[in-house]
Amino acid sequence: MNLEELKTRVNTHEGLSRRDALKLMALSPVAASVLAGTAAPTPLEAAASNATGKIVIVGGGSGALMVLARLRRALANPDITIIAPNEKHVYQPGQIFVAAGEYEPEDIIFDNTGYIGEDVTWIKDEVETFDPDNNKLTTKNGTAVSYDYLVVATGVQYHYEQIEGLSADMLGKNGIASVYQSDLAAGTAEGATITRDWFKAVHEAAKTSKPRVIITQPSTPLKCGGGPQKILYLSDDFLKRDKLSADFIFATASEKLFSIPEIEASIQKVQKGYGNITNKFGHELIRIDAEKKIATFHHTYQVQGEFDKDLNEYDMIDKEEEVEMAYDFIHVTPPTAAVDAVANSMLGWQKGTAKGWLEVDRETLQHRRYKNVFGIGDVCGIPIGKTGGSARHQGPIVVGNLIALMEKKEELPLKFDGYTVCPLKVSYGKIIMAEFNYDGLAPSFPLDPAQPRWAWWMFDLYMLQPMYRYLMLNGLM
Ligand SMILES: Cc1cc2nc3c(=O)[nH]c(=O)nc-3n(C[C@H](O)[C@H](O)[C@H](O)COP(=O)(O)OP(=O)(O)OC[C@H]3O[C@@H](n4cnc5c(N)ncnc54)[C@H](O)[C@@H]3O)c2cc1C
Repeated sequence: MNLEELKTRVNTHEGLSRRDALKLMALSPVAASVLAGTAAPTPLEAAASNATGKIVIVGGGSGALMVLARLRRALANPDITIIAPNEKHVYQPGQIFVAAGEYEPEDIIFDNTGYIGEDVTWIKDEVETFDPDNNKLTTKNGTAVSYDYLVVATGVQYHYEQIEGLSADMLGKNGIASVYQSDLAAGTAEGATITRDWFKAVHEAAKTSKPRVIITQPSTPLKCGGGPQKILYLSDDFLKRDKLSADFIFATASEKLFSIPEIEASIQKVQKGYGNITNKFGHELIRIDAEKKIATFHHTYQVQGEFDKDLNEYDMIDKEEEVEMAYDFIHVTPPTAAVDAVANSMLGWQKGTAKGWLEVDRETLQHRRYKNVFGIGDVCGIPIGKTGGSARHQGPIVVGNLIALMEKKEELPLKFDGYTVCPLKVSYGKIIMAEFNYDGLAPSFPLDPAQPRWAWWMFDLYMLQPMYRYLMLNGLM
């Protein structure tokens, strides 16, 4: 099979051996150049610093492992402890591909032990309390650990229970799914297979009726903000490719489809192409009656009031109401927050919209009050960036700035620009690769980032997983 045949197979949705495709992609000129370019060592390599001090990293996911690998290489005499419960690592972006039937569950679970070297002290536990005033923390089993420097990489915590009538153990029953569900401490991602079964159940129902399918998105910060829409388009296309259909409702607490106007415009075109999607903006899921299959939303909206002659404009009046919607199938994206240990500590923002999330400077990623503390990944209370792509860009910043601090430099040299990436799967075989930062669009390649492309689908499906596993987690890109 050559690349042309591969392309035809994907576009016609024929069966495809993933391993054949992986082999082909690894041999293709594009893949080779990307891998060669991105694998080049970054400046902070090869025992560049003699700085000393005990560093504790908390977490065992993407951000923690990327920082760990870089610190081990950059320090001549590393003294690093990692506190992480998980011996298995979940490649979370792959949860979507498992749901869509493109990956097997085993494609997204790796052994974590290979990333944590023997020179590192690994405490297989979770932090229960942080005491940053005394440079100490305590784990769930009661071990007290002190540190000179701390890196927090604990990710997010899901809160299904904040939706009345719902709990995580109800997923997979009564037409309810959530691709997000996982137990990262145990190294499992059951939401992926639950949603794969849900795709099939919707497909089965669409053979005899036109089911109503609701996809929800909450108002809290989300990891992978495009996740709910990925499920929306893939589950719709899963039907379409067999000439089946359903009524899809995208019920989002947001007022738009995407924060970047160019991407928003492109998604609107995608939705028109489907022709069976209704958007319900300003709708936050607050209750589920699983038996009756009714979802209740808190709907906020504005209506036009009196004309104000002085301001020369209409007064806009805020309104709210509860809206009930019957459904046959519902995909729920849970509200999220920082993990309790951070949210309940002095490390979290103490007030404001980011309350509870780690209070780091949005550029240096140094804690704003505790200068020997840094953050990486989803836990950070910064305006954008809850993606693995953000963590990848944050890794060198955190390590460079931490080492500068250890070396008693007066200023932290590196600044995070807010980079994040959403490979928005708009159908089987097409992705909009939305890369942006604090200033707006930030494409890595000279291509229109709003354009859905087959090449991005191939890149995401076949190349990102090995790049993540062998390069990113080893701090090599
Ligand atoms: C369905 C889905 C699709 C996604 N798609 C994409 C995508 O296409 N592209 C992309 O870039 N990103 C994507 N992401 C987001 C990406 O996976 C995360 O942003 C990334 O994993 C964040 O890394 P992290 O280290 O901050 O957190 P995580 O990787 O989630 O790791 C958190 C770690 O902290 C540990 N932990 C938690 N609490 C404690 C504690 N108290 N003590 C010690 N350890 C603790 C956990 O066990 C875990 O090991 C997706 C995520 C999901 C769920």
